[in-house]
Amino acid sequence: MNAPLSAIEQLHMELPELDWITDPSRIARLSQDFAWFSPVLHRQLKDKVADAVVRPRTEDEIRALVSACAKRKVPITIRGSGTGNYGQTTPLAGGVVLDMTAFNAVCWVRPGVARAQAGVRLSTLEKQTHESGQELRCIPSTYRSATLGGLFGGGFGGVGSINYGPLAAPGNVLGIRAMSIEAEPQVVELRGAEALRMHHLWGTNGLVLEVEVGLAPAHPWLETLVVFEDFDRALEFGDALAHAPGIVKREVAFFGSPVPDHLGQLAQHLPQGCHAVLSLVAESCEEPLMELVAARGGTVTYRKTAEEVKKSNRTLMEFTWNHTTLHALKIDKSLTYLQSAFTPGEHVRQIREMEALLGGEVLMHAEFLRNLEGRITTSALQLVRFSTEERLDEIMALHRERGVRINNPHVYIVEDGKAGGALPPEVVAVKKRFDPLGLLNPGKLRDWPAAGAAP
Ligand SMILES: Cc1cc2nc3c(=O)[nH]c(=O)nc-3n(C[C@H](O)[C@H](O)[C@H](O)COP(=O)(O)OP(=O)(O)OC[C@H]3O[C@@H](n4cnc5c(N)ncnc54)[C@H](O)[C@@H]3O)c2cc1C
Repeated sequence: MNAPLSAIEQLHMELPELDWITDPSRIARLSQDFAWFSPVLHRQLKDKVADAVVRPRTEDEIRALVSACAKRKVPITIRGSGTGNYGQTTPLAGGVVLDMTAFNAVCWVRPGVARAQAGVRLSTLEKQTHESGQELRCIPSTYRSATLGGLFGGGFGGVGSINYGPLAAPGNVLGIRAMSIEAEPQVVELRGAEALRMHHLWGTNGLVLEVEVGLAPAHPWLETLVVFEDFDRALEFGDALAHAPGIVKREVAFFGSPVPDHLGQLAQHLPQGCHAVLSLVAESCEEPLMELVAARGGTVTYRKTAEEVKKSNRTLMEFTWNHTTLHALKIDKSLTYLQSAFTPGEHVRQIREMEALLGGEVLMHAEFLRNLEGRITTSALQLVRFSTEERLDEIMALHRERGVRINNPHVYIVEDGKAGGALPPEVVAVKKRFDPLGLLNPGKLRDWPAAGAAP
């Protein structure tokens, strides 16, 4: 007698027209993301693997797959481009990885707003918004490959957040179209605050089909590196630039020494031992920028116009946010990182305090941004010379004791990371409404544990 077919084999037989990825090495690769930045997550997640990966092309294909999985209680882990950092796209209980990248049309672009299917790459979407002189408001440094749905489901913000704050700031995401995970999937439009109840939940409480986002006016951006001999002078310059209301900007990042020594591709522009500020400022604002540089005693070592950036296909945006960590890891594999939010108005003092306390072991990389209330502050992605998991915990505790919030990047449970504790009831209600069977990314929410591999 033949062995009974597994749930995955039954799915495959029922839906042969879908784009199934069956090669085990590709399935293994598509089950992982950039959790390897964390030695803790790497140890916990490196061997987790899906039973199958499916790449649907249309809403009907997504619906057919979701329905068939719901009937057989097969877990679904949604994946964009898999550039997340916390194992968000790694299934803990096998099942299907639902790869959204073939569901990628731009629906429309209008003045101040655009709408696209979740699997669109951010770079593709921005190419289209550029046609009307507009750009995305806040993009991760992975914008080249990351998807819109992935940014919504797993991201925070990034380049542009200096103006518009994090993605969660009201107005940045105007609405989403989402599907429930049921035998008869429901598709609904959620607007404003209701839509945000699915944001940064790591694909655990709904499948996002389309996202509508606010746009910003596009500028030709001048990309510069300004270097300093003194930590405080560089930090003060970054803070002054971030605050300068008349200098139109898209990005300001501060790298305390020896972070610049870890950006190998920019080595010729970053003298050994320097402190540096990376910025994108509107070309029309070059003069006031240079006045600020002169007033603070900085030296411009890198200057590229928007046209030069386009021609070279190298942008400093890909040295910011967690790209700084990626470049540093290429030079020193023993490093890891932190994610922390400083207090607006106190952020410069707090950065100095943490540098005095942990400098040499924790290397300061801070990104200037507006917080949810619009106040300028910094979010830091410090590099850490990793020794032990216990010491990493101690370092995080030392930050918390001094009022610096840690968004722990070394955990894979949503509540233990940026969410910072129990989920609000309205978010739990969305989970119950859109995933009543608990099939989405099981094990990532505390009250919905992974039940083991799919049968
Ligand atoms: C080098 C580097 C730099 C980074 N810089 C930044 C940065 O500047 N800012 C920032 O915010 N992040 C950053 N990240 C994290 C990540 O790149 C971004 O959050 C990115 O937007 C994720 O997009 P993705 O398509 O790769 O999503 P994925 O990693 O594929 O998915 C992320 C999460 O979203 C869920 N998801 C994906 N699509 C959907 C959907 N359609 N419906 C529901 N849930 C979905 C997934 O289940 C997963 O939990 C960085 C990561 C790396 C490795």
